Amino acid sequence: MDTNKLAALKALPYVINPVCGLCKHGKFPNDDWGSCEATKYDHLKHSDATRDISIHKYGSCPNFEEEPKRVGMLARFQEFFESPDKLWQEVAEAWKRTGKQFDKVNNRLDTFIAELNQVGKK
Ligand code: SF4
Repeated sequence: MDTNKLAALKALPYVINPVCGLCKHGKFPNDDWGSCEATKYDHLKHSDATRDISIHKYGSCPNFEEEPKRVGMLARFQEFFESPDKLWQEVAEAWKRTGKQFDKVNNRLDTFIAELNQVGKK
């Protein structure tokens, strides 16, 4: 990748989030709309069978599991992919460093990591 382009993206900082389109449970046969095989439901109007829940490629949920082939298609942009594992690894490291606890109700994970990293610098 062009060095200036890479620097500009990192300066933003640019991230690719763990969305349904990069998850192994998402099925997208035609376009950005698809279904998730990890969550089933009974449709109120059609009582034929249990269905996979409908989803959009850019959504996400806590059951995200990385699909290596899809992430691989990001090519040089893979380094901007923020996998949940990577985020939790950062939290674990920051916990050890600072002793601060994560509050699931009031904290966003990325904000919490940024706070922890600030504490770590002081
Ligand atoms: S992120 Fe959640 S909703 Fe989306 S495909 Fe994966 S498991 Fe399904």
